Amino acid sequence: MVDQQSSIQVIFLGSGTSHGIPMIGCDCEVCTSDDPRDKRTRPGIAVRWGGHTVLIDTTPELRLQCVANRIDRAEAILYTHHHADHVAGLDDVRRFNWLMDAELNCYGTQDTLDYVRQMFVYAFEEDSEYPSHKPALNLVPIDDEPFTLFGLAVTPIPVMHGPLPVMGYRFGRFAYCTDCNYIPEKSMARLRDLDVFVLDAVRLRPHPTHFNIEQAIETAHRVGARQTYFTHIAHQIKHQTISDQLPDNIALAYDGLTFSVPV
Ligand SMILES: [Zn+2]
Ligand SMILES: [Zn+2]
Ligand SMILES: [Zn+2]
Repeated sequence: MVDQQSSIQVIFLGSGTSHGIPMIGCDCEVCTSDDPRDKRTRPGIAVRWGGHTVLIDTTPELRLQCVANRIDRAEAILYTHHHADHVAGLDDVRRFNWLMDAELNCYGTQDTLDYVRQMFVYAFEEDSEYPSHKPALNLVPIDDEPFTLFGLAVTPIPVMHGPLPVMGYRFGRFAYCTDCNYIPEKSMARLRDLDVFVLDAVRLRPHPTHFNIEQAIETAHRVGARQTYFTHIAHQIKHQTISDQLPDNIALAYDGLTFSVPV
């Protein structure tokens, strides 16, 4: 069972698109903004309940994100898909192996986990000489079926990212769907009665594999969560300017945003 509080805490480790904001070599208004909410590391969150911490994705800035947000333990990783902005920081979980004295369970579709294994080939080689030089991982394939993690039901939410299937995840009355531009009806049915919904909204102009702001607003209205946050935000989006134009129950996420949701 979930602990007495019956709530989960969500911490936005990163809210940016794949380049990160500021981007290398860009002097646009957002990349040079003084507003801390315009500084976006690659997209990922930590979800905590019952004294456990689960990471969704391991971005290239995982160490910096965990230090900034005082994430001092993690027991599992849920992967959305294999793109580098969601996976490339996996080596940083060696610290969690050390702190927890345990392997980390990495959940994802078989295709995603196959990519992870290829991208971090050294982590899966027999190498007893330097065991602390590689993350200790246990790959756990999942399909569309809900599963239980530390006493809480986790529901996979299959979505489409252009031609690529991606997993969103639902925990109680919270769901996280990054990297998508289409949500099948079967998955929409799994997004009913949410308190908080997180959705991909990359920029104003249309994008071939991500919702833009207009499509994301339309999708958020269809889902009908009490509060929606947009993530995976590119440098065309100035936080204050676009925030002022969004409907009341929709907001832009930002790095470090933290909230609790009942389960
Ligand atoms: Zn991405
Ligand atoms: Zn820029
Ligand atoms: Zn992606």
